[in-house]
Amino acid sequence: MTDTLFAKIIRREIPADIVYEDDDVLAFRDITPQAPVHVLFIPKTPIATLNDLTAADALGVGKLVLAAARYAKAQGFAEDGYRVVINCNRDGGQTVFHLHLHLLAGRAMRWPPG
Ligand code: 5GP
Repeated sequence: MTDTLFAKIIRREIPADIVYEDDDVLAFRDITPQAPVHVLFIPKTPIATLNDLTAADALGVGKLVLAAARYAKAQGFAEDGYRVVINCNRDGGQTVFHLHLHLLAGRAMRWPPG
């Protein structure tokens, strides 16, 4: 896959407000937050979209989700609740083609989404 701005954030070539990092996952605040808390969790090994996942990626995706859930607990908003979103391709609203999980919190979310 082609290089994306998220790969540049992983390499520290573009600044970002990083809130969590481990061997597999990086998390940083979205530059255009849609909620009081809006953090993007990305795998350090790039995958373009959900469509590109294979069985070999299952552990990595699990780590991504687990990192987000742990962050929510650590930050104290897990009990109030939050939303996790992964957009895929045009109709899903994906604009950066490095798989990422949006963690949104700090306000009541509407359903259905727009
Ligand atoms: P998508 O639309 O692909 O699901 O989400 C991409 C997200 O990346 C958007 O919410 C957008 O605001 C965010 N974003 C785009 N450029 C940057 C950037 O340079 N830095 C950060 N931190 N977020 C960005």
